[in-house]
Amino acid sequence: MSIVTIPPTVSGVGVGRSAAIAPLALVRPAPVIPSGARRLTAASDIAQRSDTAQAIAAAEKALAEVAGEFAERAAAAPGALGEVLLATAGMAADPELADLARARIENGQGPAAAVDDAVAEVMAMLTAAGGLFAERSTDLRSVRDHAVARILGLPAPGLPELRERSVVCAVDLSPADTAALDLEKVAALVTESGGPTGHTAIIARQLGIPCVVRATGATGIPEGTLVAVDAANGTITAHPDRALVETVRHRAQTERLLAEDTAPGATADGHPVPLLANVGTPHEIEQLDPATVEGIGLFRTEVLFLDSATAPSRDRQAPQYARALAATNGSKTVIRTLDAGADKPLAFAAQDDEDNPALGVRGYRLVRTQPQLLEEQLAALGATVRALEPERRPDVWVMAPMISTPAEARTFARLARAHGIRTVGVMIEVPAAALQAAAILDEVDFVSIGTNDLAQYTMATDRLRGELTDLLDPWQPAVLALVAATARAATAVRKPVGVCGESASDPLMALALTGMGVTSLSMSAPALPAVRHALRHHSLARCVSIAEAVLTAQSADEARNAARALADGEVVERLGL
Ligand code: PEP
Ligand code: MG
Repeated sequence: MSIVTIPPTVSGVGVGRSAAIAPLALVRPAPVIPSGARRLTAASDIAQRSDTAQAIAAAEKALAEVAGEFAERAAAAPGALGEVLLATAGMAADPELADLARARIENGQGPAAAVDDAVAEVMAMLTAAGGLFAERSTDLRSVRDHAVARILGLPAPGLPELRERSVVCAVDLSPADTAALDLEKVAALVTESGGPTGHTAIIARQLGIPCVVRATGATGIPEGTLVAVDAANGTITAHPDRALVETVRHRAQTERLLAEDTAPGATADGHPVPLLANVGTPHEIEQLDPATVEGIGLFRTEVLFLDSATAPSRDRQAPQYARALAATNGSKTVIRTLDAGADKPLAFAAQDDEDNPALGVRGYRLVRTQPQLLEEQLAALGATVRALEPERRPDVWVMAPMISTPAEARTFARLARAHGIRTVGVMIEVPAAALQAAAILDEVDFVSIGTNDLAQYTMATDRLRGELTDLLDPWQPAVLALVAATARAATAVRKPVGVCGESASDPLMALALTGMGVTSLSMSAPALPAVRHALRHHSLARCVSIAEAVLTAQSADEARNAARALADGEVVERLGL
């Protein structure tokens, strides 16, 4: 009998500051077919003990069982999810799929490989058919994964069905995996890969779910083990002791107390710093408490189309924006045009042959290859705003991601204004744009600093890879210098300069940014109370001193320590900074 040793604590990179305790639910990766099992004649298990007929029976049984399993899940799932699961069950039960697999086995393929290839063939056919068929094709991937796992005798892959609040743990979670989670039942997210500004981290922050990424070894903790996930310390502890349980409880209590303060963001001496929310869908806006959020500082519109196979027309986009704007109660709303590419893959904007997608045609740059995408989106936005009654018309700002030059800012501003957008801005997330901030500000009404990408590009460090997290740190002096330069350029011309990267949610960083002249801070809503609390306990002059100190630091740690040393000791203690 093998004895599994559970490491008492697995460490990674924490996202946010909260913590949770719950049993672990493991997300199993897609099965890999061993090369020996690809042919019947090879020395695979099935090949040794069965003939072609048995292999066909194994493939057919697996597909039928998968169809049954999905149908069962469909019956229990609500609304749209149930429909998708039922459609997937239908695809698994499709006799054509079984026929394709059978033909392959008769040609000597092993059953797992035959199902794998048969599914790939059907997926290719659906993709070629386009439209709704193409959208369905990716659902077949889970039919493949489940059927192959059954044939190989492996546990079911993918997201577990959560029966209670659980800590969901995976090697990695795709945006689609994360979207499929029953979030009511997710106490925390843990991944072995991914970086602190990757998609899983962003979604976790957005929802206030404790999250630890780069937690190497976490998937080795057995399913069902009670674990404590502490995002502030970046740890996952199996079988937490009483002291740890108490710490987690205390943290939750402090969070609740901080959330009771809903006054507008301002320093102790009343210098206003509007606190805005980052969102990805109209639903998220509807969930916000208008009393605590002064507007939307970043609406990541690409999130709406993560699972679209085809480019959304203006008619398909407009209702989404109308719903979003209706939910903002007239407050300031900064909408970002599609930031497709690299860490935000959208099927209809995919570039086939990019070796370095983060340096390729992403964000605003898609205007070079698919200008109609921006055109349709601006048309949808313009039409949506115009359709609202003037008195109910929210303060809509529209900005472009991944701007690198003043000329790009000029073209974007021209296009947006042609569609009736009044307040036009760009994100500063490429070092070249930060260095050219003054010239860019000549072209637009505002800028918003995306410190996630600004850190990635300044430090030449992929934001999705966690091995180099120390370089990706927004406290890196080079990143701070570019943020400060941008803030200075905006202050000189009295134009708004916000920060909407994840760094704005760090209370110490929020103080430094305010001292640099940043005029608003946008973050995932659950991070707002701690930032509001920090601002309220520091005067603008103290924020300026903090900014000056961090800008002379030689390293990220030195900068963070300098801010901590100058911040109010009680606030540092209370917020665990
Ligand atoms: C950023 O880069 O900081 C940003 C806010 O945009 P995103 O994280 O969506 O790339
Ligand atoms: Mg960005």
